Amino acid sequence: MTLNTAGLHHVTAIAGDPQANIDFYIKGLGLRLVKKTVNFDNPSTYHLYYGDDAGRPGTLMTFFPWGGVPTGRIGAGQSTSTAFSVPEGSLGWWRNHFKALGVDSVIDRLSSDEERLSLRDPDGLQLDLIASSTIDPRNPWDSASVPADYAVRGQHSSVLTVNDPFRTVDVLINDLGLRVVGEMGNRTRLTAGAEGAGNIIDVIADPMAQQGLTAGGTVHHIAFRVADAFTQDRWRQELVERGFQVTAILDRQYFTSIYFREPGGVLYEIATDTPGFDIDEPLLELGRSLKMPPWLEPSRDAIEHSIAHIELPAENNPTLAGK
Ligand code: ZN
Repeated sequence: MTLNTAGLHHVTAIAGDPQANIDFYIKGLGLRLVKKTVNFDNPSTYHLYYGDDAGRPGTLMTFFPWGGVPTGRIGAGQSTSTAFSVPEGSLGWWRNHFKALGVDSVIDRLSSDEERLSLRDPDGLQLDLIASSTIDPRNPWDSASVPADYAVRGQHSSVLTVNDPFRTVDVLINDLGLRVVGEMGNRTRLTAGAEGAGNIIDVIADPMAQQGLTAGGTVHHIAFRVADAFTQDRWRQELVERGFQVTAILDRQYFTSIYFREPGGVLYEIATDTPGFDIDEPLLELGRSLKMPPWLEPSRDAIEHSIAHIELPAENNPTLAGK
């Protein structure tokens, strides 16, 4: 069986205070909270999903916020930067926007056709906004905080830092179906499916980099797309036959997932495109109420009692998105 992903499905990171996380990703980055649910493995804490209007694969950034979580260390064996795609010429606007919010950022040129604005989220997570001369055709979430002319189109790429790139790149090519499209110094760029934003992995070879420590302000895992549960099951069997330690298929309510660790230490997930985020609330109301999978509903009262209260900014509601 040939294993091929269409690209990135989501990136999941660890945060501290959930309200600071919500305020930054909705008002700062201009994403939409498309699901407010609980961490299925620790239901007294949240799992927050941000993305475009519908939470399409390739636009999703998700967080496990734990108030008071220790700060981790960004380093080898991790996804060390998460990059979002923004329109060409928009980085000056973004720098002023973040400055007004008290967030420092730096603009540099990544390549002849890509400019990058680098910043940290409230927990120290490394983020980049990439403005490419290649047009990203995806429609942005039209938010009152970030006008559509500048808004994030979705993921651009994930940057993986590893001590030895050889086996990491080998797995990306032979077990996930990506292909190498460029080399820039110690950075190898690979792409999945149709080349373009949302399908890109940059592998940085840094033999001296200290191992990362997964905690607050670090990426927990990155997820690649698979079309449906049937293909996922076949893919899982194939990965097991190839010697990977792969988890059972887990029901994440909005998709199903398998996980395995690649040789460089980065945790990978393969997540289905279906059923999606409108399975338990209408598109217009995404993110508004606390959602739980059926197996946690009997404990809803106890969970709602123990979980931190958060306020959802008006920007998340399409009828209030300002024009
Ligand atoms: Zn995930």
